[in-house]
Amino acid sequence: MINWQNDPPRLLADEQDFGRVAEHMVQSQLAARGIADPRVLRAMRCAPRHAFLGPALFRRAYDDCALASLNNQTISQPYMVAVMTELLDVQPGMSVLEVGTGTGYQTLILAMLALPDGRVTSIERDDDLADLARANLDRFNADNVTVLVGDGTLGAPDAGPFDRVLVTAAAPDAPRALLDQLAAPGRMVIPVGDRDSQSLITIDKRDDGTFRRAMSTPCRFVPLIGEQGWDA
Ligand code: SAM
Repeated sequence: MINWQNDPPRLLADEQDFGRVAEHMVQSQLAARGIADPRVLRAMRCAPRHAFLGPALFRRAYDDCALASLNNQTISQPYMVAVMTELLDVQPGMSVLEVGTGTGYQTLILAMLALPDGRVTSIERDDDLADLARANLDRFNADNVTVLVGDGTLGAPDAGPFDRVLVTAAAPDAPRALLDQLAAPGRMVIPVGDRDSQSLITIDKRDDGTFRRAMSTPCRFVPLIGEQGWDA
């Protein structure tokens, strides 16, 4: 189990100095733009973003932008990771579903927020990325995470219901299967729109199973490809 106070991330010698640049990212890109949840700021200060990227992008890891990962996919801009995480409001003990594992960076942040006894199930459709994410997460003892390969638009019915669902790729609308697998009460955050531009949508499922939607930040994500998403 990761414990960021007693069990710090296993970093190589030349990775140890990320704290100063991560702190600068937190202050200048997140806090200055209104991210206020101290748990989110702390998680983003602790998660070594550079460790999720190849050596060629090491020095740009904390830049204010999305960066390339594998197979034409991206690791989202730090600010967008923070906005989505703040909206999702993961509390200790929650069961979380993430669709679009990518490098596993956002997954690690969700896993930290769900500690001590919460779990994250994350689905990635690309085998190479799922392998990369598993290797990345393994370095940080993230043993409250399960990475699955498959079409995340169909969710993970055997692992649900989920208190929180985060979709990190752009959808034409919230997939029905994910709404069904959301606990009541529960919350989903998902970028919805066309293939070129979207807005983050927060969907709250109430105790009686009805939904309330709120639209917030404009964004641009890679497409959610799948049965209840876009065609490849
Ligand atoms: N949050 C990730 C990170 O920290 O690296 C970045 C996620 S990236 C913006 C979106 C990911 O969604 C891509 O890795 C893509 O392969 C994946 N994806 C797209 N459609 C999917 C689907 N139907 N099921 C699972 N993953 C999907």
